[in-house]
Amino acid sequence: MTGLEQLQALEREHLVPAYTRMPVAFVRGEGARLWDDEGHEYLDFQTGLAVTSLGHGHPAVVAAIAEQVARLIHVGNLFYSEPGLRLAKRLAEGSLGGKVHFANSGTEANEAALKIARKARQGGDVISVHRGFHGRTYGSLSATPQEAKQAPFAPLVPGFRAVAPTAEAITAAVDGRTAALILEPVQGESGVWVLGDDVLRAARAACDEHGAALIYDEVQCGLGRTGTLWAYEDAGVAPDILTSAKALGGGLPIGAVICGPRFADVLEPGDHGSTFAGGPVACAAAHAVLDVVENRGLLERVRALGERLTEGLARLPGVAEVRGRGLMLACDLAAGGAPEIVRRALLEQRLVLNATGPATLRLLPPLTIADADADEALARLRALLEDAAPSPARGS
Ligand SMILES: *Cc1c(COP(=O)(O)O)cnc(C)c1O
Repeated sequence: MTGLEQLQALEREHLVPAYTRMPVAFVRGEGARLWDDEGHEYLDFQTGLAVTSLGHGHPAVVAAIAEQVARLIHVGNLFYSEPGLRLAKRLAEGSLGGKVHFANSGTEANEAALKIARKARQGGDVISVHRGFHGRTYGSLSATPQEAKQAPFAPLVPGFRAVAPTAEAITAAVDGRTAALILEPVQGESGVWVLGDDVLRAARAACDEHGAALIYDEVQCGLGRTGTLWAYEDAGVAPDILTSAKALGGGLPIGAVICGPRFADVLEPGDHGSTFAGGPVACAAAHAVLDVVENRGLLERVRALGERLTEGLARLPGVAEVRGRGLMLACDLAAGGAPEIVRRALLEQRLVLNATGPATLRLLPPLTIADADADEALARLRALLEDAAPSPARGS
């Protein structure tokens, strides 16, 4: 048995079959590149789903983690610890003001945001929007209006409903019983849909009028991914509560809920918490990530490269539409077959991508990627799509 076959046997026997894995075992990464256990080199345009957004093994992230690991790994939230407290200051001052509550993942950050909004308006409803994705725990799942994800786990949390992501639908839905309206300014998991400025403005106006909490889930689209530190900056319409995770820890698990001034003191001791949240190692990593991502030059590059990739993708054979902003891009294929293209890109072109649906490729390259690597990815995709057009059924 090869190394990969051994891992596949272990998976079959010992792992709950919750994931569909590609037949590759990665053992090392550096920048935009990954290596498998046979020494093959890959170009990473998936970044573990928008997590390793500074590339693999970024020296500042590695150094910050190593330094903190050697000093103190965990002490918990019953004591003071500097990395988390300084990170809270930095996150709040760089966004809404107010205060921060830490979590360990995106779903947990949303869970906390929803609890805060419900505590502020007890018994209130939560409204989310179609195509939204907020995570897999019960509160976040209840705000994720996708039949396939929700149905096996009913009954969900009561008081949740979803409306179309349009200004009219949101204006009509939010009322005096609404505790929270939650949405992603750029929807990721459903295929990269940028919500219009008019949608965010209507959401803001409706929540202001009725005193509801406007929650932006920037777990995927935040932290420079779309070319601004926070995606909402593009429209200039701020939420009351902002959630972050994925890229925040440079690969380590961390989530954050940034509560603007109105919601900063809703939670009191005993209301909510988590053993690992705000731990020193993940927070030290997050400081290193922010040092890089807050740099204006990097954000400008993300926008410029996003345009270059958008233009390049639009010129590829069989591409029907390119969507997104910055380096959060989706590419619809006229003939469908996106999952097969993802598989062939990996195995034949050594390009790591992901599909968000039967016809949609998602590109989430490192924000630090070189122009030459972006062009190389386009060339590999072109080779595949040119080849795929006449005989899409050809296997790998
Ligand atoms: C990935 C994602 C989540 C869930 O994050 P986990 O860390 O997987 O729990 C929530 N919201 C959005 C927008 C995401 O992309």
